[in-house]
Order: sequence, then C-alpha cells, then structure tokens
Amino acid sequence: MSKRKRPQWLLPLALLLSALFWFSLQFSSSSPQPKQVSYSEFLSEVRTGHVAEVGIDEQLLIATLRTEIATKGAAQQISTQRLPGMDETSLLGDLEAQHVTFSGHLTKAPWWSALLPWVIPIAFFLLISGYANRRLGQTPGPLTFGKSRAKIHDRSTEINVSFKDVAGVDEAKAELMEVVDFLKQPRKYQQLGGRIPKGVLLVGPPGTGKTLLAKAVSGEAGVPFFSISGSEFIEMFVGVGAARVRDLFEQAKQKAPCIIFIDELDAIGKSRAGGRGGIFSNDEREQTLNQLLAEMDGFDTSKGVIIMAATNTPEVLDAALMRAGRFDRQIIVDRPDLAGREAILEIHVGKIKLSPDADLKIIAARTPGMVGADLANIVNEAALLAVRRNGDHVQMRDLEEAIDRVMLGLEKKNRVMTVSDKERVAYHETGHALVALSVEHAVPVYRVSIIPRSVGALGHTLQLPTEERYLMTLPELEDQITVMMGGRAAEESIYNGVISTGAGDDLQRASELIRQMVMRFGMSDRLGHLTYGAPHNAQFLRFPFMSEERNYSERTSEAIDDEVRRISDRLYLRAKTILMSRRPDLERIAHELILKETLDRSQIDLLLVLPTRLSAMTPKGTGPNFPSPTTAS
Ligand code: ADP
Ligand code: MG
Ligand code: ZN
Repeated sequence: MSKRKRPQWLLPLALLLSALFWFSLQFSSSSPQPKQVSYSEFLSEVRTGHVAEVGIDEQLLIATLRTEIATKGAAQQISTQRLPGMDETSLLGDLEAQHVTFSGHLTKAPWWSALLPWVIPIAFFLLISGYANRRLGQTPGPLTFGKSRAKIHDRSTEINVSFKDVAGVDEAKAELMEVVDFLKQPRKYQQLGGRIPKGVLLVGPPGTGKTLLAKAVSGEAGVPFFSISGSEFIEMFVGVGAARVRDLFEQAKQKAPCIIFIDELDAIGKSRAGGRGGIFSNDEREQTLNQLLAEMDGFDTSKGVIIMAATNTPEVLDAALMRAGRFDRQIIVDRPDLAGREAILEIHVGKIKLSPDADLKIIAARTPGMVGADLANIVNEAALLAVRRNGDHVQMRDLEEAIDRVMLGLEKKNRVMTVSDKERVAYHETGHALVALSVEHAVPVYRVSIIPRSVGALGHTLQLPTEERYLMTLPELEDQITVMMGGRAAEESIYNGVISTGAGDDLQRASELIRQMVMRFGMSDRLGHLTYGAPHNAQFLRFPFMSEERNYSERTSEAIDDEVRRISDRLYLRAKTILMSRRPDLERIAHELILKETLDRSQIDLLLVLPTRLSAMTPKGTGPNFPSPTTAS
C-alpha cells in the first residue's frame, strides 16, 4: 500500500493550535483593559474633574484619569458604552467646562477580523473532511475530488504476489495464464490477430481470493497494477465518480501494459433498471457506471491494458457491463474443495512454525465450505493460541481449537450454569447426536459438547461431512431436519413434556429449510413441482421487507403454511420415536456428557448399547445452499 500513515495525534494538535491562535488574537490586541463603568459613574468622574482626556469612538467613551487620581490605586482608564441615539451635547459641555481634552476616532478592526467568520468554518470543514478521508484510507486531501485514488503498485516494490501464493482455484489460474501471457508479450497476439478479452470479471464468494488473484496476475506478468474499489467511487457529490474513472483510465494508458483492477464492481455496476427516477435512483452511481462503460468502449486492448474486476454478486450487475467488448470473460473463483483447502493451508503455514505432528489433511477435512480467507484466519488464530500457551511450535491442537473458534466462537468455560440447565443442555445435545447416529443420511457426528461458546449456543453437536456434496436428495434433507428436531424431542421426552427456549435456533433453521422444500424445491406432493414467490429485482434487495414478490393466491398461501406444518410435525414425531426407542443410550450419553462436558465420536460409540455405524458408512455432505459443516445447538 502506498498510503502514508499520518500520526494519529496530528489532527487534535492542529485543532488545539488554531484554538490557541484564535484566543490570543482575541485578547492580545489592547492589553491594559479600561475599567468598565456605568454611564452615570462616568459622568460624575468627568464632573468631579478626575478626567484628563476622553476618547470617543462609535461605541465607547474611554476616559484617561488624571495621574494623581490614578496613582491612588484606581484604574488608569475607565470606559462606558455610549447611550444609543442620545444627544451628547450636554456631555460635551461638561467636558469643556472641566477642560478635558477630547477627541473622536473610528475604531478600525484589523483586516483579518472581517474574514474570520468565513475562514474558521471553512478551515474546520477542510480539517474534518481531510481527516475523514485519511481515516478511510484515501491519501489525497479534500481538494482533489476529481483525482483518481487508484493505488498504483509498481511491480518492483509493491506486488510480490504470484500464482504460487494462490491455491485451490486451478481453473481460474489456468484461464488467467492467458492474460498473463498477453501482458508479457502483447505483440505476439497482435500479429496473429486474435482478440484479447478487454475485461475479465472474477466472480465468487467473498474471501475466495479474487483480489489476491488479480494481484498475482500483475505480479506474474510484471506490469503495474492500478487498483480501486467500487465503493470508493460512491461519493456525495454527483460527477466525482465519473471524473475519477476518466482519470484512472488516463493514468493507466500512460503506463501500458498494465492492469486496471476494479474491486467490488457491484458497488458501481448495479443494474440501472428498476430504480430510474424514483426514490431509489442514484445519479452518482449511474454517471460513474456510464463513464466506465464509455471508457471501456473507447479503449484499445492492443495497447496492453487489461481491465479486471471482482464481484461476489454478479446477478446484480448491469447487463451493459457484461456485453461483448466489456467484461466479456467471466472467471469463476469458487470455494476450494478438500485438496484445494489443503493446498491453501500449505501456503499459509509457510509463514508460521508448524510442529511436525500437524496433519493439514485432517484440518482441510474439518473445514468444508470454508474459503481461503477463513483458512488464513485459522492458521493465524492457531499461531496466536500457540503463543498464548508459550509453545514454540504451532501444534495440531492449536489448529483444532482455532477451527472451533472461527466456526463456533470462543469457549466460555467460566460461565456458571445451574445444574438443572446443564442437565437439560446435555439431554438436548445428546438428542441431536443420537438422532444423527440413528438416521441413514445424517452428516457423521464428530463431537458433542455442553461448553457454551460465544455465538450464543449453550452447547453444540458438531457434524462433519467427509466429502464435498453439491446436491441434497429429499431423504437427506428429511434426515437433516430430523436431527435438528432431536434436541427439542429429547427435552420433551425426558422432562415429561416440559420444553424450553433452548430449541429456538434449531426450530428456526428447520422451519426455513422446510419452507424452502415446499416453496423452492417442489418437494411437497400437495403443492407440486412448482416454485412459489419470485425474488424481487436485486435492485430492491436493500429493502428487506419487500424482498419477495408474492405470486400466488391467498389459498395457496394457506396451503403452503399447512404443508410446512405437516412436514415439521411428521419429522418431529420421527425424531421423538427414534429417541424413545433408544432411551437407555440417551440417558447414558447425557450422563457422561454432564461429567466430561465434551465427548468425541469415539467416546460416544463406546457408550452405545447398539452401536449404530450406519451413518458412518454413508457419510453425507451438504449442498451449496446449506451451511456446512453442520452444527446443532
Ligand atoms: P476476495 O477478494 O475474494 O474477497 P481476498 O483475495 O481478499 O478475497 O482474500 C483474502 C485473503 O485470504 C488473502 O489475502 C489470502 O491471504 C487469503 N486467501 C483467499 N483465497 C486464497 C487462496 N485461494 N489461496 C491462498 N490464500 C487465499
Ligand atoms: Mg476482495
Ligand atoms: Zn439444539
């Protein structure tokens, strides 16, 4: 980053200095202040002949006392306000009678005093906005609105990222190789007459390494890298963003071959449809987008400038951006698979001291669904944990604990729970685990715990898939929901129908899933193979209360509710039946859990009367729509 860090104390210091300056101006001008007296007192001083001299200006009468009076300890000078609109000829008469010298003069305020009321607020505004800009990480001050804030990274100093720092996204890397090759030798491509993509759009969930990949391309090709983030364009003044786009392209053309990288493209590139003219319109964004489109059109790839952009919400982008000649090549940067996660971990543990006992394969297996940023975070957490226990290497247990922290939050070991609460949580969690061990398609149970974690759950049942899955069948979904019902079902059967609030989270997730089965996946006989409810135009997504359009009748709406209810009742009953039939197992595991607080899979298996290994033999993962790994609480 080329951002120069300014010391934090600079602004307070500047404010303090200007305040001091202001006060010194106020009080320094006329050092011995005349003593303020009332008009009548002033008159009597004049009439008793104590006054030697009087100065009259527009507002004040200032008398200098005779020296023999003054030395008696009285003030040297006295002053009083002139009476507004009064005739002062009688005062003049008195002055003459007492032989006082008097003269009038206009007080002339110093030239800068007229400016002060203007200058102070403006200076204040400049200071504040400059400060705010700096806080936002943007170097230039407030007077450079139109200037692009693109950060220019020179290869030699800034970018030392290359493809070997990115893992788990082999397809994306392969596609980007071509871009690198083009940037290295544009001439080769020109001779053959091939058309190089003008814009490359990296699409993928947050943290999968899009920004990293763009930097790696520039690092590999050894060309300058202009990066700017879409959200930086959005300013309060209309037209600023557009000017900035123009400036960015101007700069880039001079440095060709190079890469222009627009991060978070969705912030400017949101679809213009739907919002025009209404209260939702955003002129600034629209102008910026138009300028971007215009620049991309009037741009010749043969100069060797490639525009890259990244987004995690391609569906909200304006269609015009995706047209041929603009971002015509899209590269998917997907979540890494098992091997990918291991490779990413491999990269990040390069920076720490890892003990030889650590098995990254197991860590990779324990982190399905996690992206590169999460994995980097886990390695970092593990290193911190190792430091905290004064170890000289990062061990396997540090990594395991780091996963739990990232996934479930901190352990709250010293939270005091009453004995009866603890018992209830133990039965609840055992309920989940036992159902998961009993149904055919559940994700294998890895661990049960009644140690509260900061995420809010009082305990958790951790299930870990053993392979990557992208689809879920109906039986798998039903099994998963039955497991979610297991906690409440266990409480109900153990406590003779006295249930608690502990199942709230489970029930919410179950209801959501069942509703999706009915409305999205066409999994209800009664409602057929249809979807209900159309997601609104993404433009409106920032108004959550209108996020779905109802395209079905009142009667269908009732039918949906009935179906959701019916499915949930059926699966709840199923969970309860399973637990009743295995009541001895339920009791035994729960008791052990109260004693030990955490039970691994192997410990659970030892406690079972009828060892059920069904679920271990048919491991199930989760699809892209479902959080994985599964934890129930
Ligand atoms: P995105 O831009 O897709 O949101 P970033 O590129 O900002 O994600 O990734 C954040 C950090 O996570 C990177 O700096 C890197 O440390 C780590 N990371 C993410 N993806 C990967 C990956 N595929 N390989 C190695 N590290 C990664
Ligand atoms: Mg990014
Ligand atoms: Zn639960």
